[in-house]
Amino acid sequence: MEKPTCRTCPYWDFDEGVFADEDPDVVSTYCKRLPPVLPSAAFVAACVQVSTASEASVFRGEWPMVKGAEWCGEHPDFPAWITSRLG
Ligand code: SF4
Repeated sequence: MEKPTCRTCPYWDFDEGVFADEDPDVVSTYCKRLPPVLPSAAFVAACVQVSTASEASVFRGEWPMVKGAEWCGEHPDFPAWITSRLG
């Protein structure tokens, strides 16, 4: 069994229309396994003084960036791969 990577993960957000000419293993894309991470209020305050809601929206959360060749233990096939490695 091959090691599961982001490229085969159902949580991987790869837009073939946008990245048609890119190598999926190296182009930066998103992992949508978990919600975007929001910056802390302290981080926002340290960056800029926000006076309107539209300015604050600049600081929306961001999805984790991944590449197709990367991997993590959240891939649904990861437990099976671990088991296959144990023999
Ligand atoms: S980081 Fe993990 S959960 Fe996210 S796309 Fe890659 S293998 Fe899947």
